[in-house]
Parts: sequence; C-alpha cells; structure tokens
Amino acid sequence: MTAGESRANLLVVGAGPAGLAAAIEARRRGVGRVIVLDRDAQVGGVPHYTQHIGYGARDLHRVLSGPAYARRYAGLARQAGVEVLEATSAIDWEGPTRVLTTSRDGLRSWQADAILLATGCRERPRTARLVPGDRPAGIFTTGSLQRFGDAHDLPIGHRAVVVGAEHVSFSAVHTLLRHGVEVAAVVTDLPGPQTFRALRLATTDWHKVPVVTRATIAAITGRPRVTGVRLRRDDGLIAEIACDTVVFTGDWIPDNELARLADLPLDSGTRGPVTDQWLRTPVAAVFAAGNLVHAAESADVAALTGRHAAVAIASYLDGVPWPGDPALPVRVEAPLRWVFPSRLRPGDGPPPRGRFVLRASTVADRARLLVRQGPRRLHATSRQRYTPHRSISLPAHWIDDVLPDRGDITISLD
Ligand SMILES: Cc1cc2nc3c(=O)[nH]c(=O)nc-3n(C[C@H](O)[C@H](O)[C@H](O)COP(=O)(O)OP(=O)(O)OC[C@H]3O[C@@H](n4cnc5c(N)ncnc54)[C@H](O)[C@@H]3O)c2cc1C
Repeated sequence: MTAGESRANLLVVGAGPAGLAAAIEARRRGVGRVIVLDRDAQVGGVPHYTQHIGYGARDLHRVLSGPAYARRYAGLARQAGVEVLEATSAIDWEGPTRVLTTSRDGLRSWQADAILLATGCRERPRTARLVPGDRPAGIFTTGSLQRFGDAHDLPIGHRAVVVGAEHVSFSAVHTLLRHGVEVAAVVTDLPGPQTFRALRLATTDWHKVPVVTRATIAAITGRPRVTGVRLRRDDGLIAEIACDTVVFTGDWIPDNELARLADLPLDSGTRGPVTDQWLRTPVAAVFAAGNLVHAAESADVAALTGRHAAVAIASYLDGVPWPGDPALPVRVEAPLRWVFPSRLRPGDGPPPRGRFVLRASTVADRARLLVRQGPRRLHATSRQRYTPHRSISLPAHWIDDVLPDRGDITISLD
C-alpha cells in the first residue's frame, strides 16, 4: 500500500501534556502548520484516564482533575490552531524528518521541518520485572487498571496487592478502593513509602491499608486467576498474601521505541533520548520532551518542558542554526541514578523551569548535591534526605560558571 504524503512545519508525536503544551506555544510563536498526532482515540495523554484531582498547578495555575486537565489542553490546542490527529500512530521513519503514520485512513508519510517526540512513559509491567510464578489473569499496572476500571467500567477483583509505594502506587490504591476492591497491602523493597506524608497517611491511617517495607514479590500464584502472592522480606522471611488482583506500579520506562528507530542516542540513566537544555537531541531538527526524557515527572512539569522545547523549535524554524558542536555531558555519580537534561551548552540559557531534575537509587540522609566541572566546585546544596522515585530538583543558576573547554559536569551526593 502506498502512503499518502503530507507536510507540516512542526510534527509532534504524542498528544499528552508535553506534546500539546509544545504545540500551543509553537503556534503562539508563529509556527505555521503544527500537527499533533496520538495513537489514542482520546486527546490528552495519561491525565485523560486518571480521575482524581491534582493537575495543572504550575502550568495552568489551577487545580483540575485529570480528564478536565486533558479537556482544557485539547481546547487550548484547538483555539491555537493546532491540528490534532487522534487514533494515529507514528510507526517508523522514512528520513531524518519524515515520519510514517498509520490510522483508519491508511498509511501517511509526514515530512516536517521539525519533529518533537513527546511519547511519554509507561510503568514497568510484571513481565519486565522478572517476577516468577504463574501467569494468571488479574495482573495490572496502574495505567491498565484505570483504563479497565474507569474508562471501560469493567470489574477489577475483590482483594488486591499493590507493588510499589511511589506517588502513582497510591493513585492505584485509591482507584481500587473507589471500585470497592479491598487493598490487602502495598509492598515496597525500600525502607518506607516514597510519597507525600498526607497521601501516605490517608492510605495507612484513614483506609487502614498496610505498607509492607523491605519486601519483594517472590512469586505470584493461581490459575487461571491470581489467588495470592508470596513476599520475601529482607530478613529472609516469606509471607503469603491471599488476593485476586496484583497491581505493579511506577518504575517507569520511557516510550522510546520511535526514538530508538531513529537511532537517537539514549541516556543510560533515563533511557529517554539525550537532549541539551533546549530539548534538542543530537539529530538536527528532532526534539524530545515530557516524560519521554524525564520518566516520570508530574503533568505540569511535562507540559512546561514541552513549552520550553517550543521556544527552541520556533527559533530553529525562524532560521537560528542547529548547534554544530556536541554539548557538554552532565553526569551523575551513584547513588544518583539520572539527571535531566544530561547535556548542556554553556552560555545558551537555562533548562526547563531553570532546573535540573534528578533521581537517586538509594535513600541518602543528610546529603548535599555537589556540582563540579573537573576540580572546580560550581555548586553545593544544603543537606537533606533523598529518596528513590522522588523527584530531586536542582536550581541551575550555576550554569553561568560552566566553561566550554573544561570538560564534563558531574553531580554527586556528599
Ligand atoms: C495513575 C497516574 C496518576 C497521576 N497523577 C498525577 C497527578 O495527580 N498530577 C500530575 O500532575 N501528574 C500525575 N500523573 C503524571 C502525568 O500523567 C504525567 O506526568 C503526564 O501525563 C506526562 O505527560 P507526557 O505528555 O509526557 O506523556 P503522556 O501523558 O504519557 O502522553 C504521551 C502520549 O503519546 C502517545 N504516543 C506514544 N507513542 C506514540 C506513537 N508512536 N504514535 C502516536 N502517539 C504515541 C500516547 O498515546 C500518549 O497519549 C499521574 C500519572 C499516572 C500514571
């Protein structure tokens, strides 16, 4: 089958908060034809499926539910003259800035002056976590649980175990409770939950859901439906919990398939495309934003990253040349896991929100973040606690002291 051909000034893949915010800002800055496509039939990305309140504080300066936030962005995009193509998947590249899409109308080849990848991220499913045991029905991620229960109104189960204790894990708990499912336990391999105190207390004290710490899932049992999980604690103790539902939460992986098909270099920490502070990948005219490059931040942060990318996209389309030299690497030392952005061009302005975003892989108490370039110390924060899965925000004012010829920047914990 031959693909139809179309042209755009900017083609955005992914109509979540990052993609839509970027498209709106690009139009505001005078970019001509802006197309946003999404494989989903609903515009708005993940928020469309999360019923609770808590979206929009930093980007829209109001607090909305997920679906209201998604509707708001879809409306703003329409008003800005952005063309949104639903149920349209980007499936391959036919050139550096030519993307092949598929939809009910068939294949289409999009040639664009610039491309923004904003394909988001997903939770690591059971298969990717190498959890042994049977392969029964009743196993979800938070995303699939919310689509199953909220979007399609299908029965979930009666008694669940939630694996993970990040913010999103508690969103899963409250979805289960709202659907009348008892939550037998939240299980984490870490010494404590990794969410806000209020959310934790609402779960453990108000709804009496126990959090089992320092434990992993040794096996899932049951066939054809889950009948239980076997927990292995740090001290070697094994415990069985009867349940018919298991929800694997968090532990995000970027949706980087399209980036990999383009051979974009991926960051070894985030697993998203490497970008500089303006969300430019190493491939000319290709940008990446949102949870594809920082999995996972909140929706307003993703939207603001998208908006920041649009500034650079508009200038590039206005004739500002693509930078020739490679950007300086920004590296992290263990127990830090990753930093975004992981490339910096000295003298070229700040990263989104004037901040770097980081993650730690283990709990670190009373630690300082140190930023160095070779032997020069550029910045040190005050001492605080760092926890895996919690966002670490590092103000970027020290970038003014980075010198182009003094090598990589290193961020470590002291
Ligand atoms: C359960 C849950 C609760 C949350 N609660 C909150 C909250 O209360 N407040 C908050 O601020 N944030 C919350 N978040 C986080 C928030 O949803 C994300 O930060 C935000 O959606 C990220 O936006 P994004 O645009 O980067 O990605 P996404 O929203 O994931 O959008 C990416 C889009 O790309 C599309 N796509 C991917 N690949 C392709 C392709 N090849 N072709 C076409 N389309 C493609 C996808 O269909 C998707 O629509 C929550 C997340 C979850 C999972």
